[in-house]
Amino acid sequence: MEVAETIESVRKLVKAARSKGKRIGFVPTMGALHIGHICLIEKAVKECNFVVVSIFVNPTQFGPDEDFEKYPRPFESDLEICKKAGVDVVFAPSPQEMYKKENLTWVNVEKLTEPLCGRFRPGHFRGVATVCAKLFNIVAPDVAYLGQKDAQQAIVLKQMVADLNMPLEIVVCPTVRQADGLAVSSRNKYLSEQQRKDATYIYKALKKCESLIEAGTTDIETIIGEMQKILKQVPSIEIEYISIVDAETLQELERIAGKVLAAVAVKIGSARLIDNILLDTGKQ
Ligand code: AMP
Repeated sequence: MEVAETIESVRKLVKAARSKGKRIGFVPTMGALHIGHICLIEKAVKECNFVVVSIFVNPTQFGPDEDFEKYPRPFESDLEICKKAGVDVVFAPSPQEMYKKENLTWVNVEKLTEPLCGRFRPGHFRGVATVCAKLFNIVAPDVAYLGQKDAQQAIVLKQMVADLNMPLEIVVCPTVRQADGLAVSSRNKYLSEQQRKDATYIYKALKKCESLIEAGTTDIETIIGEMQKILKQVPSIEIEYISIVDAETLQELERIAGKVLAAVAVKIGSARLIDNILLDTGKQ
């Protein structure tokens, strides 16, 4: 496995692989790799014959009061994980390498970035779309693997790739959860033992939503009210949002119909956690 720290070196490695006719798979990450990332990497390794993983904590997607500085960076163990999973190249640039001069070009995906996390993290998706556009241009993969855990991010990036005619396919992989349902996340490291237990209520609320919809409830306020009741049982949970939206447009729904995305963001202590479920209600 090669570790490339410069744009030039990763481009050279990919170019050599491409000249041998290899299919290039790419998994963009911020490191602190866990089983969720590993699932994406394993799928990439299975479906492609040259896999690049980027490890880059992107400063432009963090707000001024967010956790950029304290975000975990266990670089050596990340490399071990990648090696074991059969990755060909880890691209680990410095912020200076990625943003050499003042960055004056930004990718702003409209509409899809306004609801859900967009309301609470101004500029976040601008940073995500911009860094992913840069990474896609640098790595030039045939296919990029993203997680359903960050549903809005995946939808925004799919739109960007389509709108800007980027020649790659986006594959979205299911959310990997721990046995008690908590979605695996690098930010779970911020939780104390008690907070980690409290965090299981996020998935409980999403499961409640699922069972209400399966039982035929179509009134969104009723469903959100029931989800709120579950989360409010836990004093450490501060609800940021509970939303049920159209799974493609992310627009608010009047009642449950078609494919819906139920998404939750909460704060527990210093950790901001998000999770979601996709439901195909089969209703028109
Ligand atoms: P991050 O390192 O948090 O930027 O995540 C890198 C990629 O891994 C993104 O596409 C995430 O959606 C994906 N990812 C993170 N956690 C999970 C998870 N629990 N299950 C599936 N994919 C995940």
